[in-house]
Amino acid sequence: MAPSIPTEQYAQVFEKNGGPLEYKKIPVAKPAPDEVLVNIKFSGVCHTDLHALNGDWPLATKLPLVGGHEGAGVVVAKGNLAQDIEIGDHVGVKWINGSCLACSFCQQSDEPLCAHALLSGYTVDGSFQQYAIAKAAHVARIDKSIPLDAIAPVLCAGITVYKGLKESGARPGETVAIVGAGGGLGSLACQYAKAMGLQVIGIDTGEDKKKMVTGELGAETFIDFAKSTNLVKDVQAATADGLGPHAVLLVAVNEKPFQQAAEYVRPRGTVVCIGLPAGAYLRAPVFESVIKMVTIKGSYVGNRKDTAEALEFYRRGLIKAPYKVVGLSELPMVYEKMRAGAIAGRYVLDTSK
Ligand code: NAD
Ligand code: ZN
Ligand code: ZN
Repeated sequence: MAPSIPTEQYAQVFEKNGGPLEYKKIPVAKPAPDEVLVNIKFSGVCHTDLHALNGDWPLATKLPLVGGHEGAGVVVAKGNLAQDIEIGDHVGVKWINGSCLACSFCQQSDEPLCAHALLSGYTVDGSFQQYAIAKAAHVARIDKSIPLDAIAPVLCAGITVYKGLKESGARPGETVAIVGAGGGLGSLACQYAKAMGLQVIGIDTGEDKKKMVTGELGAETFIDFAKSTNLVKDVQAATADGLGPHAVLLVAVNEKPFQQAAEYVRPRGTVVCIGLPAGAYLRAPVFESVIKMVTIKGSYVGNRKDTAEALEFYRRGLIKAPYKVVGLSELPMVYEKMRAGAIAGRYVLDTSK
């Protein structure tokens, strides 16, 4: 029996960058031929959603906008071109909502680089609502054995850090520094890194994050950036031979670490930039970067294959990310804590509350 779909639903909407957020009823959209309508059960809150609300980046958001791009739910309607997906399937509405599938980047599965990519919760309405639209070709396929609240943070944070770790080229047994280890992306990065056989140096601040990072997330070392008087030295000293980590994953929301990482990475090491602090610039000393043969690169979400792989790590029980569930109506509280850097792990919104 086809599920009954209401004409109206609750959503978190803002009319202009900077807010305010309004929790209110809006119409439920109908899927185009190549789209699905997803009854979002849970949505993670990524720092990107806060950047979108703030208008932090040199890329305009749609306005008014429903944010959110870690939406886990159930397909309730589909267009007639959506052939390989059924009503009742569990899917994820992720950052890449759709792409042209025809340009040279899409042809080589680099769909995040597609100039026509649609971005959930940024250029199209996202998952901070009970019913969201996404292109059928792009929704993440979620195995029904996986709880939808737990998988929500994987749909952006997990995919992104998994991809970033692959981009780093770090191999089992090597060491990766995760900068911002106590946040949403960082907490998952620690888990994926462990699952990939890497040793982890977690960098963040505060006792809660330290406890989580070295406890349940399994990092070998934690360095508190607010307490360290010489971060470069401390990070290098945390590796067995004192030469520094083979890779650095920058998932922090401040500029400073983007200007330090090239100094402590190991010779021939790789710095992977993932965090997107507003107006920030990278900096690296030319002399040391050259004679150490350092690689510095950006990494942007993941493609459909990275998505399937990142979810498979979860299904196999290799990933267990920390998250707290609150109601969709409580999004402003989550943003307040996020601004203060006071979230260890992720908040997940239950759209029924
Ligand atoms: P978050 O707020 O959950 O976590 C950020 C963490 O960085 C916090 O724990 C904070 O304490 C820590 N931090 C702040 N300053 C630091 C410093 N100097 N050194 C070390 N740690 C520091 O944010 P999140 O949801 O994990 O997102 C992180 C960033 O990644 C955001 O800018 C977001 O937009 C970006 N992002 C990028 C991609 C991509 O594809 N490249 C995808 C998702 C998110
Ligand atoms: Zn995100
Ligand atoms: Zn394309």
